[in-house]
Amino acid sequence: MIFRQLFEPDTSTYSYLLACERSRKACLIDPVASETERYVALLGELNLRLVHTLETHVHADHVTGAAALREKLGSKSVVHRDAGALCADLLVTDGVPLQVGGLEIEVRHTPGHTNGCVSYVMVDRVFTGDALLIGGCGRTDFQQGDAGQLYDSIATKLFTLPPDTLVYPAHDYQGNTVSTIHQEMAKNPRLGGGRSREEFIALMAELKLPYPKYIDQALPANRICGGTPSVCQG
Ligand code: FE
Repeated sequence: MIFRQLFEPDTSTYSYLLACERSRKACLIDPVASETERYVALLGELNLRLVHTLETHVHADHVTGAAALREKLGSKSVVHRDAGALCADLLVTDGVPLQVGGLEIEVRHTPGHTNGCVSYVMVDRVFTGDALLIGGCGRTDFQQGDAGQLYDSIATKLFTLPPDTLVYPAHDYQGNTVSTIHQEMAKNPRLGGGRSREEFIALMAELKLPYPKYIDQALPANRICGGTPSVCQG
């Protein structure tokens, strides 16, 4: 497998390139629109063909590169059925297996940060979007966020993975790049160390988080896959 972790510093967003060495087919998880040229160059350098862009959710902090990449490279965008982005090429639900050449990726519905959040599971790693972050989790105060639902998603869909599964989140603001399920279960200050559902809900209700700086541009754009209304109608 070919694997690259890519960072967009303005919104501290991680995107991930995964590709099958044999077929040269690739997918990008959570691509950022402003980085499109960088992705195109990297795919060219590695001699890869982008077949899918996979969204972990409809992002409030940056515009997705799904539409730009679809236009340039013909990739198909993938998003959960409940995410509210009906322009996607493939609307997925919990348990759907995705195939990128010889790579197999399982969709797990992990709502709570938004109702359409998914994690993407591979053999030894999981891409958790904003559900589970390294030493944190996504906020639950907008986009149909629900702290109790997020707790249940993490407890039943992520903390049940093998402990040495690598955790790759959609963001990190402290320079961390990767964690494990074991590390988050033991040390995550919000829901590790056996913290109860009630404690987690109370803690999330107390967070006084600022309004995300690009939400007013990002949400409307991402509901149409990061495109413009004329591109995505129908
Ligand atoms: Fe988010």
